[in-house]
Amino acid sequence: MAYQTINPYTDEIIKTYDNHDDAYVEEAIEKGHQLYKSWRDDPVESRAGLLYKLADIFEARADELAKVLTVDMGKRFVEAQGEVALCVAIARYYADHAADFLKPEPIQSEMGEAQVISRPTGVLLMVEPWNFPYYQIMRVFAPNYMAGNPMLLKHASNTPSSAVAFEKVVKEAGAPDGSLTNLFVDYDQVNRIIADDRVQGVALTGSERAGQLIAAEAGKNMKQSSLELGGSDPFIILDDADLSEIKKIIAGARLYNAGQVCTSSKRFIVTEKNYDKLVAMLKEAFSEVKLGDPMSGKTTLAPLSTKRAKENLTKQVRAAVEAGATLAFGSLEQNQPAAMFEPVILTNITKDNPAYYQEFFGPVGQIYKVKNEDEAVALANDSHYGLSGVLFAGDPEHGAEVAARIETGGVFVNSFGGTLPELPFGGVKNSGYGRELSHYGIDTFVNKQLIVTK
Ligand code: NDP
Repeated sequence: MAYQTINPYTDEIIKTYDNHDDAYVEEAIEKGHQLYKSWRDDPVESRAGLLYKLADIFEARADELAKVLTVDMGKRFVEAQGEVALCVAIARYYADHAADFLKPEPIQSEMGEAQVISRPTGVLLMVEPWNFPYYQIMRVFAPNYMAGNPMLLKHASNTPSSAVAFEKVVKEAGAPDGSLTNLFVDYDQVNRIIADDRVQGVALTGSERAGQLIAAEAGKNMKQSSLELGGSDPFIILDDADLSEIKKIIAGARLYNAGQVCTSSKRFIVTEKNYDKLVAMLKEAFSEVKLGDPMSGKTTLAPLSTKRAKENLTKQVRAAVEAGATLAFGSLEQNQPAAMFEPVILTNITKDNPAYYQEFFGPVGQIYKVKNEDEAVALANDSHYGLSGVLFAGDPEHGAEVAARIETGGVFVNSFGGTLPELPFGGVKNSGYGRELSHYGIDTFVNKQLIVTK
């Protein structure tokens, strides 16, 4: 497979990278392994300085680094700047808090003085997707760097320039060799890395298919794994919801990052009372969108990440309509150049329509009508996925009660939500397992070692 940056807006091939051979991979694993051995007796706080430095470099060179994202996968420049700022926040968050998160935990026991200490486990592999090329790395790198686990990175083949830029900044910040090594490798090499005795775990963010394959490799080799997979998140609107608040956020909820967000709202589930108003509102929001050059401040909708993503999404929409869904907004023809995709709204999606259980990773909104709150919850839960969700209710307390009935890793009541360093991120069902970010995120690849002293 080729690691290649192709600008999704201009379709121009910007750069092709050579794959790394097995000797390079071996050297990277060994460097990481030696670093793990030298790190494991250092206090956690001794590594905080590097993350502060990394954050400072990201901040100082925000625009230059943001542009790499826009050229690699097409996101709007302003969104790329937001992603860089989020990386800064994550690095500082773990630099500030990791030592506290990993401090020894005393346990009352009749067997003696018991405590659980947090020890690093060794070299980890992260396999990351293209939709937030820096953020996806940072949310694994920052906690594990603090914990003392060196990392290997296999990034998506369409965002190699982001991988190279991130690795370079880590080096510039002064991280020891082997802290983070970017690898341009194929899937067989990935499997061999997972099988290597020096590698202790793998963190994947990606599709269900990749999740199945990588978790199987990890399982076969008895390695720890975490999976952050797709989502078809519900956006539930109850009878008493404040529609004026929804109007302010509805476009962003579905179209941020050109709709290529695992936690973006993909299924709008509306009670009968508000259904017509919601359909009109989403149509209006989508009709105001300006699709175009992601570097321009006037553009409000960026192209998709690749032409292949556009072809796949176009086919998915066509299949949904052929199976009886109504094309309430947009067109079956996507005639804009390169990877540009015009927004679409689908309604009347019945349970036998393939679209009902599919994730639409792009600017496609599905709207479902339900009779009442119970039906809304049942429909939200009738999904193979369980990542996140949004719920609007007039009474926030009641909203929180309904939210607890939704089978996802998180629900945002009366806001469109998002991701922050202190909030755990992850899902249930086919959306994967494990949590990233927050104090939960640092524990995944840590040995919670019990020491009992009599
Ligand atoms: P993929 O799963 O194909 O790609 C993600 C990463 O996994 C890439 O680095 C890819 O490499 C790698 N990969 C895929 N298959 C294998 C394999 N068999 N062995 C080793 N590495 C592999 O995802 P898509 O590109 O389709 O990305 C979109 C999907 O990811 C969506 O379904 C989306 O919901 C999900 N996603 C989930 C997120 C979350 O946080 N939960 C965030 C972002 C996306 P390569 O590029 O070389 O194929």
